[in-house]
Amino acid sequence: MAGQTTKCVLVCGGAGYIGSHTCTALAERGHRIVIADNFANSSPRVLLRLQRIVGAPVECERLDLRSKSAVTRLFKRHRFDAVIHFAALKAVGESFERPLAYFDNNISGTINLLGSMHDAGVMRLVFSSSATVYGDPESVPINEQARLGVTNPYGRTKLVMEQLIEDLCHADGCFRAANLRYFNPVGAHPSGLIGEDPAGIPNNVMPYICQVAAGRRGKLSIFGDDYPTPDGTGVRDYIHVMDLARAHVVALDYLVRGDGNLTVNLGTGRGISVLELVHAFERASGCSIPYEIVARRRGDVAEVYADPSLARRLLGWRTRLDLHAMCRDAWRWQSMNPDGYQRPTAKTKSSPLASRKTMT
Ligand code: NAD
Ligand code: UDP
Repeated sequence: MAGQTTKCVLVCGGAGYIGSHTCTALAERGHRIVIADNFANSSPRVLLRLQRIVGAPVECERLDLRSKSAVTRLFKRHRFDAVIHFAALKAVGESFERPLAYFDNNISGTINLLGSMHDAGVMRLVFSSSATVYGDPESVPINEQARLGVTNPYGRTKLVMEQLIEDLCHADGCFRAANLRYFNPVGAHPSGLIGEDPAGIPNNVMPYICQVAAGRRGKLSIFGDDYPTPDGTGVRDYIHVMDLARAHVVALDYLVRGDGNLTVNLGTGRGISVLELVHAFERASGCSIPYEIVARRRGDVAEVYADPSLARRLLGWRTRLDLHAMCRDAWRWQSMNPDGYQRPTAKTKSSPLASRKTMT
């Protein structure tokens, strides 16, 4: 089958959270990988961890996509068959404070990348988009036909990047792109060697919970319990990062087969509240997660979850890992690496961790 062919894949932002997990899935599939990353939000240490997982050195070029000359040189040094583009700044709060930096990094970087792809005749692109392009949805579950809208500058960059790519596909009939709209990626590789390692105070709920469990933070603040949801806390569609990683591999196969362009949601289709997540994490880790209910966070919406049926229909992809696996694997990564990539991997799962509860 054409889709089974081994390819040389440029993974922009491949040292980051989702990119590094996708590299393991690409390598497992037999693809050759070249990572390009400026390590603005990741650690070069991830490369040695990846090497341990895939059993071979992982090629990486340290570069900033905003540098047109650096990107041009990258495409001169390698013959890529396809590109997966994860490289972006992604913190919603920061994007309000530094909108120009977000536009420059995310959009200028993408323009340079697309220009070099075009010049080098690399016609296959898998792009990291986000459920954020749906803004405040009119209804759930959200399908790909839902109205698009943005509520923050980060989301606007994602929408503009989607539109840029769509325009390029229209302008050049040979160019093929898969636009993957992720819902809430969580969890980690089952080895515990790679995972999510946010700098500073985590913005997202799962890494925050992990750091509470590890004793790095006192308690979780739950942003509001007065939403029109079953228990009043916000509902999201959490998806295991390994399921997400596998979706990139099948999306690449789809593009290589020449089946056309693609815009799909990647989620489980199941909405989980913050309280449900906390309790699932407690069961999976055996740790208590103290929390307090505080005011709603600005810009948050009540419920966001996917209708993932299009991805199932077009790609034959569906999630395999449930909420328990998400929590278990997030906790394995956190407990083996209490300080993320700052320290060598701990040998055991326990250590300076919070009060433990009986596993259920
Ligand atoms: P991440 O920050 O862990 O990874 C992004 C990587 O890109 C980092 O290694 C960073 O150093 C690199 N990078 C950023 N700007 C760069 C530049 N100009 N040149 C070279 N490298 C650069 O983020 P992630 O969670 O792995 O997210 C990956 C992608 O998925 C992003 O595009 C993000 O917008 C999108 N996304 C993430 C989530 C999520 O919750 N994590 C949800 C939806 C969409
Ligand atoms: N949330 C929370 N406390 C936190 C971080 C997040 O209660 O410290 C809630 C947030 O209000 C939302 C859900 O957890 O209902 C998921 O938030 P996250 O930032 O992880 O993802 P996003 O809002 O981008 O979907």
